[in-house]
Amino acid sequence: MGVKDSIKVGLSYFFRWTGFPIEPTLIEIGNPTSESPVLLTCNFILTVKRVLKAIKNLDCYLLIAPSKGINVWCGACGDDFHTDSVLSILKTSGINDLVSHRTLILPQLSAPGIDPIVIKTKTGWNVKFGPVYAKDIPSFIEQKFYKSEVQRIVRFPLSNRIEMATLYFFILFALISIIYWISAIFLPILNLLLYLDTILIFVIIIYGTMAILPSISTKTGKIKVWIYEGTILLLIVLFNIIIKFDLLYLIWNIVSSLLITFIMAEDFHGLTPIYKSELGEKTWKKGDEKMKFLFGEYKLQPYGKIIIERDKCIGCKICIEVCPRSLYVFDEKDKKVDLRNFERCINCNACVKRCLAQCLEIK
Ligand code: SF4
Ligand code: SF4
Repeated sequence: MGVKDSIKVGLSYFFRWTGFPIEPTLIEIGNPTSESPVLLTCNFILTVKRVLKAIKNLDCYLLIAPSKGINVWCGACGDDFHTDSVLSILKTSGINDLVSHRTLILPQLSAPGIDPIVIKTKTGWNVKFGPVYAKDIPSFIEQKFYKSEVQRIVRFPLSNRIEMATLYFFILFALISIIYWISAIFLPILNLLLYLDTILIFVIIIYGTMAILPSISTKTGKIKVWIYEGTILLLIVLFNIIIKFDLLYLIWNIVSSLLITFIMAEDFHGLTPIYKSELGEKTWKKGDEKMKFLFGEYKLQPYGKIIIERDKCIGCKICIEVCPRSLYVFDEKDKKVDLRNFERCINCNACVKRCLAQCLEIK
């Protein structure tokens, strides 16, 4: 990657909702031969960087398919990374002439948007859904396309939570800074100290909620965000009483913490990859197919309970392979699947869309 791409990678951490594309292409890693594996990912620059780092010691081909610069999961759920993205790069990259096999490894999280049957019918390529995380690709290939349960599950470790918090902090920091300093022209009480105080409140609410609250299980995201806010309000009052009572700062801190909490509570679970979006579900149940949140508009997938027509199940295990919450179990006796812990389903729709017997439905 050149200097320009490195700058784009840096910026993509903060502006990822706008999409950060690179040109769709074919990249040769190491010294690939006609037998080497063929991998495919989206054209979001940060994803490409992470995949390249994970596979740097392999000899393989990497296809970068168009997704409008959106990451794999959001692109596949929002219709930016779809079957036609894969068909187009297979046709234009020249990969057909470079390898003798026809096995294509896709990221597992692309399953809601990409149909392996259409790809097989139109191109002859067989799709394998690889692991959720790029770091597991080498072992997936080494194990002859086997992935363990751990490699199929989406996690939300502290490092990812901090990354997400930084993204939301940056958006809201930019917005509040503009509003604050324009208002300061007319209101002299809005000085630098009060501005820094406001930013500190934003840091405490955004980083605190994202770092701590995903680990706490509650029925709705709103409940835990408001409990956290109650604790912060209490600390603000105590701080003002114990350290120095200043009515302006007290009122200002209460108002700014309430403001940011309203935004975080609007769809806290939807800000994480391990809970289903409550705003998305509410919007879908109202009959809308798109949801607006912060500055973006997002295409929605159906929300509801997964129903299995067990008699029709052919035991192909695709649902097990693509579910990022590992909710399906295989019944060895009947050779069919059952769903467990339904409350943990995030309605990503991967299982419903990829079921070979079309025996899964969301109602
Ligand atoms: S069971 Fe839920 S989380 Fe799992 S693949 Fe299906 S929709 Fe997604
Ligand atoms: S994908 Fe459908 S047919 Fe295949 S095991 Fe799952 S429920 Fe059964």
